[in-house]
Amino acid sequence: MIGVALLGSTGSIGTQTLDIARRFPDRIKIVALSAHNSTELLKSQIDEFKPKLFNCSQLSEQMKTEMIGETKNCSYEDMVTDEDVDLVVTATVGDVALIPTIQALQAGKNVALANKESVVMAGEMLMKIATENNCMIFPVDSEPNAIWQCLRGEEQSISRLFITASGGAMRGMTDVQKKKITPQLALKHPTWSMGPKITIDSATLMNKAFEVIEAKWLFGVEWDQIEVVIHPESMIHSMVEFQDGSVKAQISPPDMKLPIQYALLYPDRLDNPDLMRFDPVKLGSLNFESVDVDQYPCFSLGLQYGSKFGTFPAVLCGADEAAVESFLKGTISFYDIPTVIKEALQASSNEDAKTPQEYLNAAEWGRSKVKEIINHK
Ligand code: MG
Repeated sequence: MIGVALLGSTGSIGTQTLDIARRFPDRIKIVALSAHNSTELLKSQIDEFKPKLFNCSQLSEQMKTEMIGETKNCSYEDMVTDEDVDLVVTATVGDVALIPTIQALQAGKNVALANKESVVMAGEMLMKIATENNCMIFPVDSEPNAIWQCLRGEEQSISRLFITASGGAMRGMTDVQKKKITPQLALKHPTWSMGPKITIDSATLMNKAFEVIEAKWLFGVEWDQIEVVIHPESMIHSMVEFQDGSVKAQISPPDMKLPIQYALLYPDRLDNPDLMRFDPVKLGSLNFESVDVDQYPCFSLGLQYGSKFGTFPAVLCGADEAAVESFLKGTISFYDIPTVIKEALQASSNEDAKTPQEYLNAAEWGRSKVKEIINHK
């Protein structure tokens, strides 16, 4: 039985994590739940799973209470370090998970990381803290999760990593079509069903730049060992090439429940009737293309600034968050996303960061700078 603290229980990854917990009640005990402002859903999750602890950053009047039933309201730190917690799942959006992730690792808890901003901002720091405290970071994001699965049982070092990308909602569009992109259109991902921020990041391919950075830190490879290929079917979630040239790929229909279940039940693989099965004949073929970097300016921008040591990756995360938010609100166009992020990065300086707070401050600077740039347009 594994005790789980789930940060961000009402979002896309959070609700799917609870679907897995519901399927394996003899293996997974939900000890703690947290949500930002979906108070009604959080309340019903608490009623169902009866966790020991909860946290909600925007409590409604009705919930402004120390307890819901037997469930106690507490801080993130108390949640992630609780003695009954074995695994912390970070399924929040943005940088809110950074400090709780560090607190969990320092308390010797394994972390199933679905939040890539933390590792993009402070990957080197997180890996060091995990090593020092003898605990593991399990990637939930489907691409690094696939790499993790491919590496299982392998002792030789990696030659290359191939990270696959669907290409997002804009793949193959002409410039004329792209000019008409609305948030509603951009939110229609061809293969994955995800939250709004990550769906837009997939359309710009910023998400893929983040995954390259994530893979660099999680698997300790050099930048030039990582390649990104467009794979429109989203069936191969990533591939690992070993020194002898042999390549292992992880294949499954695009459904986040599988990587979530793998991280929750690791090292076990258990049957779950909710998971879709791969049918090679029905699918027919798997296609690959190189990334046309001119089509995806956010991809190059993300790699250029995200691969630096210091505060640039954090500024990038903050700037991207604010730019995507403005696009979703209709304040800027899809084309403006890379422009405002680039302006913010060019106005910033790359500082040395020694504490998590310094990374958070840099992300906040990036957010504010983008807002300022947009207001002056
Ligand atoms: Mg992914």
